[in-house]
Order: sequence, then C-alpha cells, then structure tokens
Amino acid sequence: MKVNMNQIAIYPGSFDPVTNGHLDIIKRAAKLYDHLIIAVASNMEKKTPLFTIDERINMLREVCSNLPNVEVDSFKGLLVDYAKKRSASTLVKGLRAVSDFEYELQMALTNRKLNPDVETIFMMTAFRYIYLSSSIVKQVALVGGNTDGMVPPLVAEKLIQKAKELGRE
Ligand code: ADP
Repeated sequence: MKVNMNQIAIYPGSFDPVTNGHLDIIKRAAKLYDHLIIAVASNMEKKTPLFTIDERINMLREVCSNLPNVEVDSFKGLLVDYAKKRSASTLVKGLRAVSDFEYELQMALTNRKLNPDVETIFMMTAFRYIYLSSSIVKQVALVGGNTDGMVPPLVAEKLIQKAKELGRE
C-alpha cells in the first residue's frame, strides 16, 4: 500500500553532459518515485557549459527514452520554486566522495530554509562511479581521450564531435 501521496521527485543538475554516474542515480531514483523529473539548470554559476541547454536536454531524453516515468525539463531561478510549480516534494541528489558532502549539505539546508516542505534525499553513487564527474569527462574528451564506460555511447559520440568543432583534436 502506498502511503505517500506525493511521489514526484526532481533530480537537478547541470548534466554537461550526462554521465554513467548520473544515469545510475536516474535509474535507481526512477524505481523509488512515480515520476522523476530531471531538471537541467539553465542558470548555472558554474563555468560556461560545453553543451547548450538544448543539447544537454536532448542527450538526456535519448538516454532515458526507455524509462517511462522519467521526464527531462529545464529550470531557471530557485530550485524550490520550480519544485513547488511541479508539485514535487523531493529533491534527489547524488553523493560521490566526501568532497561532495559539504556543498550538498549547504545546498540542502538552504533549500530547506527556503521551503521546508521540500525534502532533499541523497543517494550514494555506485562505487565504480565514485570519481566520475562531467568535468573530468570533458577534460578527457577535449584532449582526444576515450570516454567509453564513463558516458553512454551517444554522449561519447557528441563529445568527439564537440572536440572536433573546437578544433582540439
Ligand atoms: P557534475 O558534478 O558531474 O558536474 P551535476 O552538477 O550535473 O554534475 O550533478 C547533478 C547531480 O548528480 C548532483 O547531485 C551530483 O552530486 C550527482 N552526480 C554527479 N556525478 C555523479 C556520480 N558519478 N555518481 C553519483 N552522483 C553523481
């Protein structure tokens, strides 16, 4: 019997690009919630993205096309406001090495202060993805390295194309 009335969760991030670490969290979270919204941040304080927001969304949509309860969307502004708009009560975050903890704790506490009705849930990375990040994948790809096993094949191809476009290969 389901006792939780609200089973919509949001998995936010920059996904520049989606990695196998993200995908592992997506697949596991999709089993826990009726509906999982992957929310691609379009106003990032991080460095200039390699992929445009549309490219990031399209890659996510393709790699999640076999997951019927997963939706890919983008958001601007406060994440808790977006969660409210989408009637989601849960934010899913992935945790890798200890280094993620401090930042994620700060974000979770800030989001709770902004809206106490939105809860942040942490999922531990699969051990094999503990050191995998979009940044490391980009660093490898842009100098012509092989990203197989780090990202889905479709993303690996897009990274090769991007490296060519940028004339670094
Ligand atoms: P990155 O840190 O790789 O640039 P994002 O900002 O897109 O990634 O991260 C979105 C979410 O995915 C965050 O909660 C982040 O902790 C989580 N995440 C990223 N990489 C992994 C991984 N390898 N394993 C588990 N969670 C991850």
